[in-house]
Amino acid sequence: MEDSLKHQGLRKKLVDRLKLQGIHNVQVLAAIGRVPRHLFYFDSTFADKAYEDIAFQIGDGQTISHPYTVALQSQLLDVKKGEKILEIGTGSGYQTAVLLELGAKVFSIERQKNLFDKTKMLLPAMGYEAKLFYGDGYKGLPQYAPFDKIIITCGAPDTPKALLEQIKNNGLLVIPVGATEQVMTTFLKTGDNQYAKEEFGSFRFVPMLQDKARGTDSCKQ
Ligand code: SAH
Repeated sequence: MEDSLKHQGLRKKLVDRLKLQGIHNVQVLAAIGRVPRHLFYFDSTFADKAYEDIAFQIGDGQTISHPYTVALQSQLLDVKKGEKILEIGTGSGYQTAVLLELGAKVFSIERQKNLFDKTKMLLPAMGYEAKLFYGDGYKGLPQYAPFDKIIITCGAPDTPKALLEQIKNNGLLVIPVGATEQVMTTFLKTGDNQYAKEEFGSFRFVPMLQDKARGTDSCKQ
């Protein structure tokens, strides 16, 4: 697992581009500058594309999010060291690694067994420690709730109530909401069952799917 000078150079350029695109949180820029994104492309043939402004297929019909999207969601999440964060949609593990670099304690759920298995091997091999779960993110992780913050990295048709319930007071949920196109939305929990909502532009994510077929009751680590 090599992080060559060439990849480091491409990564620095990516960080410069993200600044121009309006990402101003220095911790987020530094975290993206540290995570070797090319190693999250399970097929190394395409590793050089890792620092371009594109989303990319990572197998099983899923994509690693566009670097700008990861940066913006991380910036909106405004991670403080030691915060307990739940991520829905582990996918390649790239966003997970960025959150870990920001000093968060990360819990992450993935519903595709293949991706879950690959990422569960990859992250520790890169020195990243997260609690990874295989299951349906719609339910969240009630056994580990409440969380300081929750981030959803797939397009949710609606905001799942179970997830809103699993954030602490003053906690934050960052979620792309919509069926075909999604509006990046944040919910700040201001009191019991009270949330302040803000919107941040349109995006396109792979859909957040419900696990009706398998009917899993809980997540497995
Ligand atoms: N954060 C990822 C983005 C992956 S794309 C990365 O950085 O690579 C979104 C992921 O959400 C996909 O892997 C998809 O399988 C997963 N997903 C979709 N619906 C889900 C659900 N209900 N629960 C958990 N994961 C889900």
